[in-house]
Amino acid sequence: MNCYECKKRIKDFLNDSLNSKTCIEFIDHVRSCKDCMEELSIEFLVNEGLKRLDTATSFDLERELNDKINQSYQKARFYKNFAFICSIVVFLAAFLLGLFLSTLFSY
Ligand SMILES: [Zn+2]
Repeated sequence: MNCYECKKRIKDFLNDSLNSKTCIEFIDHVRSCKDCMEELSIEFLVNEGLKRLDTATSFDLERELNDKINQSYQKARFYKNFAFICSIVVFLAAFLLGLFLSTLFSY
């Protein structure tokens, strides 16, 4: 993912609306690109800051953004692995069904 694509997806990331593959690419990019990380921090600050203007609680946005990045990354990896395992299970099931049907009709 390049910087242009990354910056386009900042809002989607903050809304949790990226799919797992894009999410992983996005996080890999911001972790290695100071520029995009800065952009993400600013967007996050504006987003979260506005939401919490009324509540006078103090918040550590930098830590929260890091938490969000780590959690999103783990979640995306989990779903990606899960999808992979599912496709293997489906493939095996289809294979076994095919085997079963071929024994049924081979007599
Ligand atoms: Zn970048």
